[in-house]
This record gives sequence, C-alpha cells and structure tokens, in this order.
Amino acid sequence: MKKFLALTMAMAMVLSLAACGGNSGSKSQSSAASAGSASSASASASASTSEPAGLKTIEEGKLIMSTNASFPPYEMTDDSGKIVGIDAEIAEAIANKLGLELVIDDMDFDAALLAAQQGKSDMVMAGVTVNEDRLLVMDFSDSYATGVQVVIVKEGSDVTMDNLGEKMIGAQRGTTGYIYASDTPENGGYGEDHVIAYDNGATAVQALKNGQVDCVIIDNAPAQEYVKANPGLTILEGEWVTEDYAIGMAKGNTALVEAVNGALAELTADGTVQAILDKYINAD
Ligand code: GLN
Repeated sequence: MKKFLALTMAMAMVLSLAACGGNSGSKSQSSAASAGSASSASASASASTSEPAGLKTIEEGKLIMSTNASFPPYEMTDDSGKIVGIDAEIAEAIANKLGLELVIDDMDFDAALLAAQQGKSDMVMAGVTVNEDRLLVMDFSDSYATGVQVVIVKEGSDVTMDNLGEKMIGAQRGTTGYIYASDTPENGGYGEDHVIAYDNGATAVQALKNGQVDCVIIDNAPAQEYVKANPGLTILEGEWVTEDYAIGMAKGNTALVEAVNGALAELTADGTVQAILDKYINAD
C-alpha cells in the first residue's frame, strides 16, 4: 500500500507519457437512437432533454467519446464488433439527456486521453483515473466509479507484492498502473527497466501468458475479466490503491463539463449509473 500511495502523492511531473499518442487504427461507432441497450439507459432516453444553451460539441448534434475498447467491463467489443460496456452505456445515457448522438472512437488509451485534451473528441471515457497530472491538462466530470490497481500473475508463480522489484512487469502504456510501476524506487515504483508498456490490457495479458513479463498491473475490474477468460492466471492478494474514474474533457470547456455533470447527477440520482455498474460488474 505504501508503495502505491506514496506514488500517487509523489506523481508531480510525469505526464510526459502522454506524449507518445500514436493514433493507431482509430475506429468510430455511432449509435443514434440505439434501441435496447441497458434498460435503464433506454429508460432515460424517454426523459431526454434538448441540448443545453451554450453547449457546443465538436460536431453539432454529436457527442464524440474517445476510448480504448480493450478494458472490459468498462469498454470492449461484442461479437458483432460493437463497443459495449459500462462507459459506453453511461455515455449513451448522458448523450440522450443532452439530446446528442453518441459517437464512440476507439484508439489506444494514451491517444484517447490526448484526443480529449486536444479537442479532437468531446470527452474520454476509458476507466480514466483522475490524478494530479491529468488535472493539469484536462478537466474532469464528477467521478462515476472507482477502480483499484491489482497484479495479475500466472497461477503458482513466485511473484508476490514484495518482490515486484525483481520482476518484469507489464502494463498498458499511459495508464496509472504504468506510471506507478515505472516510477523510481524512492517514489515507491520499480524503475522503467522493470516495466514493459503494451498498447492495451489484452496485449499485456498475452505477454504474461507468453512469459515475456512476470505479471501485469492493471485495474481490478478488467483484471477479473482477463483472469476469467484466461485459465491459469490469478490476481495477487494485496493492498491496493483506490482510484476515482471520471470523464475527461478539454481544459476550460466549462459548458460541456457542467452539462455532463448535470446529466451524470440525474443518472446517479435515478439509479441508472448503479444499474449499469451492477449489470456488468455484479451480475454474472
Ligand atoms: N484507470 C487507469 C488509468 O486511468 C487505466 C485505464 C485504462 O487502461 N483504460 O490510467
């Protein structure tokens, strides 16, 4: 715990990581008037209000969300290639409230952050943790969920929470897991030489299965999904740091932040957000 906590506190200057945002293979999905997503989400559609005055989005009438659809259950593709998950459904419900059509753009995680920062997307929803460095370069909505960093290992491996510094760690590029792990030992990390950055969670987990790394540090909810889908993997018992997930938007886009927060508050009050979380996390 000390390690991760010390790190969170000490992360004063690290955002250089976001610099490498190659926009590899961005794919768009638009879901105008989507019938039959979460029952709760479609229920909210009937209560939809029109676009608040003063609110401008990149493309009129649309709400463009950048994401990395390799982070189940927050965002993943279903069998038909559609992006689904907690973030997709909450975004759809917000778009309905605001009278906008949701468009989802899939790209690498660091690119998804950068897109919102640079106003190429209206918002990033990708299980994004609010931290001090990101607050310097983007604005965030109120938090809608929490996550914790965990360590995935192969069953029977000798990796423990205490010997991570002697192991090779895989993490997703640009994520808090990567930032914690690659920080210096003085700051509770293990140093860059001990961490390999992967494009996304799926490739990091594949590298663990192939023996290229000894463990993967990733958020708990996707960790559970990856372990479920890959026999032979398990999550280390340990002490975690809890993080708040929120929606990232371009710095200074106050009208959008207020509109999103207004929608989110209504969706929280009427139980929609919880219903979506329960649908993906608690129900099996
Ligand atoms: N919560 C982590 C972060 O914000 C990981 C998010 C992700 O990989 N999609 O850095």
